[in-house]
Amino acid sequence: MSTVLVINSGSSSIKYQLVDPTSGEAVASGIVERIGDDEGSIKHTYAGRTTTQHDPVADHGAGLRAVLALFASVGPDLAQAHMVAVGHRVVQGGSVFDGPVVVDDDVVAQIDALSPLAPLHNPAHVIGLRVARELFPDVPHVVVFDTAFFRTLPEAAYTYAIDAAVAREHGVRRYGFHGTSHQYVSARAAEVLGRRPQDVNQIVLHLGNGASASAVRGGVAVETSMGLTPLEGLVMGTRSGDVDPAVLIHLQRNAGMSVDDVDDLLNRRSGLKGLSGENDFRALHELIATGDADAALALEVYLHRLRKYIGAYYAVLGRVDAVVFTAGVGENDATVRARALESLETLGIAIDDDRNAVRSHEARVISPDWATTTVMVVPTNEELAIARQAVALVGDEVDDDPAELGHA
Ligand code: ADP
Repeated sequence: MSTVLVINSGSSSIKYQLVDPTSGEAVASGIVERIGDDEGSIKHTYAGRTTTQHDPVADHGAGLRAVLALFASVGPDLAQAHMVAVGHRVVQGGSVFDGPVVVDDDVVAQIDALSPLAPLHNPAHVIGLRVARELFPDVPHVVVFDTAFFRTLPEAAYTYAIDAAVAREHGVRRYGFHGTSHQYVSARAAEVLGRRPQDVNQIVLHLGNGASASAVRGGVAVETSMGLTPLEGLVMGTRSGDVDPAVLIHLQRNAGMSVDDVDDLLNRRSGLKGLSGENDFRALHELIATGDADAALALEVYLHRLRKYIGAYYAVLGRVDAVVFTAGVGENDATVRARALESLETLGIAIDDDRNAVRSHEARVISPDWATTTVMVVPTNEELAIARQAVALVGDEVDDDPAELGHA
């Protein structure tokens, strides 16, 4: 067995998973939270047991060292895990990166230079990269970008209709996010259909706390709902998705809101939470069941936006072989799936109620056999996708001389 340690370094957290890229098994996983706070926590899960520590975590370096100590005390023993790479999730690869790359100092500098486009994420990734490279100097590090799958968007899809010189100077265009998930899920969907990816047109709906839709033609992304940042598009747990850009102007001019206030409003106090007070669909359904009108409206707004995107992407693709649901909501919420695709029989899209009601961790078809578009639920697995991309990139080198890999 060989493994890849997948790291997702956020501003105050580090998520990690030790993955066997061949079997897909998550051998161990965990999360360090509230880094830099008075109260930190680390949860480490191995062999079905979760160990929790509540100690302050001074910085990312201390966090990762504490994780290594947990690997040593609780297991699995990393020395025996045949770790062939560390895979890092990076949110913003800008117009620079169109696929995974082996990390060197230049790559780190480029990720850092893209920070103005992802001020919350890229600086945190850079810290995580630095710390992880220090702690694992003999293993190649690979970064996988959330934006890379969407580097194939046509110019007409990624260009905002604003002054072209301003847009160029400031990198203002649509990049798309959740790309690792859309890529993995669309490839899996083609596999489940028993068809080659190049023969399948699909609409992928990644509905988690963050949510995004993509149109994938023959394995190539041609449209996606997130833009310059992960704020554009669908209604999300706490993010507004699309609003008239003049809402920002209006609030700053007339409501005494600063740039940071507007940022906070649209990213953290909007979406389902802003409308109903709840951002988790399970709680939202419970509220609706009690007759809560705000919660009912929140669901309708969410579904209305989702259906608009499905219709738009149908027109973008012309022929849709599959509509694929994934992520927390897409994989678990049968009501959202059924309502999102209701009354589309004339387009060949329908849901079979019994199939839709099945709860499973497996990829599955939920449309009736007569439907010309296959509707599917395909669980996403970004960690596995990152691990596999890392191995695909460094696989050959690993066999040669591991000591030199960091400088490829
Ligand atoms: P993230 O974007 O944080 O990775 P996930 O893809 O894990 O999010 O999705 C989390 C969301 O999935 C929750 O906020 C909740 O709305 C939804 N969810 C999770 N489990 C269920 C469930 N059993 N039924 C309905 N919704 C669920």
